Amino acid sequence: MNFFVQGPSSISWTMIHEVGHTLGLPDEYTYNRSAASPAPTCTYKGADNPDKSITLSASRIPPAAVGQHSFDNASVMGESGNTNYPDNLFYWVAIEVKKILADEGVSADVKIVAR
Ligand SMILES: [Zn+2]
Repeated sequence: MNFFVQGPSSISWTMIHEVGHTLGLPDEYTYNRSAASPAPTCTYKGADNPDKSITLSASRIPPAAVGQHSFDNASVMGESGNTNYPDNLFYWVAIEVKKILADEGVSADVKIVAR
């Protein structure tokens, strides 16, 4: 079975971003922080990969209101229109596979490897 997500560019990006949420991925952006620092962070549990913490960067998208600050990350879960899929977005797959194998009595290292 093939599943295609198509539409004008901003709609396509929004749809694939929302598919990420259905898999449990968090937003990697905020447009309503009251302070410029510290920048917000997001930590991905790595199973057999090291945990990975993302520190969001100042966003090119204006904050939600005057006096607030906006941040995002250069990934499909962070920056509008960005289609980067860093390996940490797939760490949950390793966690689930490791649990499935453990339920079957198999002890294995399960890592997501970027290519
Ligand atoms: Zn989102």
